[in-house]
Amino acid sequence: MASIKSRTLEAISLAAKNTFPDEFLALLSSKKKNGVIDEYVLLPAIYGKTFSTIRLDLVPYDNNIVGSVHSHPIGRAMPSRADLRAFRAMGEIHLIIASPFNFDSFKAFNKTGKEIEMKVIE
Ligand SMILES: [Zn+2]
Repeated sequence: MASIKSRTLEAISLAAKNTFPDEFLALLSSKKKNGVIDEYVLLPAIYGKTFSTIRLDLVPYDNNIVGSVHSHPIGRAMPSRADLRAFRAMGEIHLIIASPFNFDSFKAFNKTGKEIEMKVIE
């Protein structure tokens, strides 16, 4: 099962609120390489753009990256067709956090877009 540190998820929800009404987008990383997501990596150049317009050639190479997170300022936390295309290119675990951007409004997906369970740990 995938897991994420609660302080990391808290920081993501705050960032998504601060980016509203634009879409927040970041990469997820596991510094300890144990699979637990403990950091997000901002890509300032793409702030406010939609997830599907991310330029993968601008993404820094970092082998701690496990996936991505982006917000849905409008609508539910379900991947769009463009999201699914981006998921396939960007790692194994993908979070979508929908308004109002809290611990109950996010969902996790694998790279094929299938919803997976995400455990929030201390
Ligand atoms: Zn999306």
